Amino acid sequence: MATTQGAACNSCRYFDDHKLNGAAASADAGLCRFNPPVSQPDPQGHGLWPVVAGQDWCGHFTAEQTAAE
Ligand code: SF4
Repeated sequence: MATTQGAACNSCRYFDDHKLNGAAASADAGLCRFNPPVSQPDPQGHGLWPVVAGQDWCGHFTAEQTAAE
């Protein structure tokens, strides 16, 4: 998939690859933490973080910061 300037969720500072929303997500999937969680299903439920694939991207892409930055 073509991306803009190498943008990809798996190299974005808002990508979280450690805590998936559910077992159905692929190994390549992660959570986008750019915005707060959304769509709390019921009062006792938890809000959900959007699940994205590592090669997805969006206009909020921000490269991960390195120690040199
Ligand atoms: S959806 Fe956008 S902000 Fe979220 S991880 Fe992917 S590129 Fe980053």
